[in-house]
Amino acid sequence: MGEHVHDVVVVGAGPAGSTTALRLARAGFSVALVDARRFPRFKACGEFMSPEVIPMLEELGLRPELEARGVREVRGMVLHGHGRRVCGKFVDVGRAHAPFDYGWAVRREVFDEVLLRAAERAGARLYEGWRVDELLRGPDGEVAGVLARKPGGSPIALRARWTIGADGTRSGVATALGVRKESNWLRKIALTTRYEGVPWGDRAEVHFLEHGFFACAPIDGGAVSLNLVLDRAEYEREKLGRDELLETWLARTPLLGERIARGRRIDPVRGTGSMAMKTSAQVLDGVALVGDAAGYVDPVTGEGIFFAIKGGQMLASALEPALHDYRTDAAALAPYLAGRKREIAPRAAVSTLLQRGLRHPRLVSAAFRLLAGHPHLVDTIVSVAGDYVPTRELWRPRVWVHALASERSPA
Ligand SMILES: Cc1cc2nc3c(=O)[nH]c(=O)nc-3n(C[C@H](O)[C@H](O)[C@H](O)COP(=O)(O)OP(=O)(O)OC[C@H]3O[C@@H](n4cnc5c(N)ncnc54)[C@H](O)[C@@H]3O)c2cc1C
Repeated sequence: MGEHVHDVVVVGAGPAGSTTALRLARAGFSVALVDARRFPRFKACGEFMSPEVIPMLEELGLRPELEARGVREVRGMVLHGHGRRVCGKFVDVGRAHAPFDYGWAVRREVFDEVLLRAAERAGARLYEGWRVDELLRGPDGEVAGVLARKPGGSPIALRARWTIGADGTRSGVATALGVRKESNWLRKIALTTRYEGVPWGDRAEVHFLEHGFFACAPIDGGAVSLNLVLDRAEYEREKLGRDELLETWLARTPLLGERIARGRRIDPVRGTGSMAMKTSAQVLDGVALVGDAAGYVDPVTGEGIFFAIKGGQMLASALEPALHDYRTDAAALAPYLAGRKREIAPRAAVSTLLQRGLRHPRLVSAAFRLLAGHPHLVDTIVSVAGDYVPTRELWRPRVWVHALASERSPA
């Protein structure tokens, strides 16, 4: 069996894994980046990135390349539900300044490949098309790397001082560590596809339905990315194939369906199963989880890419001193856990709260009535989903006084 030795092995080359690998490779460490798939690869996603993601991509020097690849600027969100339509922009909220008044949207085939190739250029050794199927252990039980194999091939051992599980919601690393737990209340499925020729502006749209939602964003090449997220129970009750199920729900959502019908579907309708899961620990001796592998709620607020890249930034800055000091104990990554508690946990909690609220149609209807009368409130909600408003800002009464002070003038 072949064997390679690195400082760090990163499992999964989505935004979390590639940006962690990129940062560590630039810091001079020997990094292996392993992904079961070959790139460019499809990833089910609404393909929207919140404004707070852009400064992190700028810091990584990737803005020019992404712009050259056609990222679209998305200047806010339109929310539809219960017969109402409200529009929100990305604005300053309290003391939180909007880094940009737009987010970005681009095909994940493009985005993930740009990040992956940047990591490779920085010196990360890429194992593309290699599936990790086992963790290696050191003398004291600490994780000491992985076994990876190509389909039908023999395994290689990738030994490393730190192993990073960035392998998404179904994380094999988190499962092997015994820390992964699927949500038992948030059981959803998502159907994903893209259209061209649909008349569309520069906003993302969310259409709330009784049992889920449609989320759409304008992406590169003038196309529109469309996701239908439904309660799994509803999907099982309908007993329809993916194409028919999507058509049925588009017909039930005429405000969206009629516009989509003016374009042409350019991708198959792909499905993905339950997404929500959590982990009981994100760091153990010799191993850390990042991105969806560390836990994921649901795509309604479109924050997964932010969590992945922010997580990668915090993990890489905690790993650097640990690697310099030859430490592999979990305590060495305490700053990463503190960062997650500060930056990710409160936002994930807001997302969970929103998910719980969405299960009560009367609550959603009342929320839409309130939003329809208060445009600043819509801006505030959209800006919170833009990831640049720290949750502590939401405890300041002035924020809500301002949000509720504005009333829509009678048209
Ligand atoms: C329907 C839907 C819509 C969404 N919409 C949005 C949105 O609009 N905006 C947003 O910000 N987020 C959205 N998300 C969430 C977002 O897609 C994820 O949060 C994000 O992709 C997480 O990045 P990651 O790097 O953690 O994982 P991933 O992007 O999932 O990457 C994980 C990688 O690990 C690899 N891998 C898995 N197992 C192995 C293995 N055993 N060996 C080797 N490699 C392996 C996979 O091939 C994959 O490339 C959406 C998610 C869904 C499901």
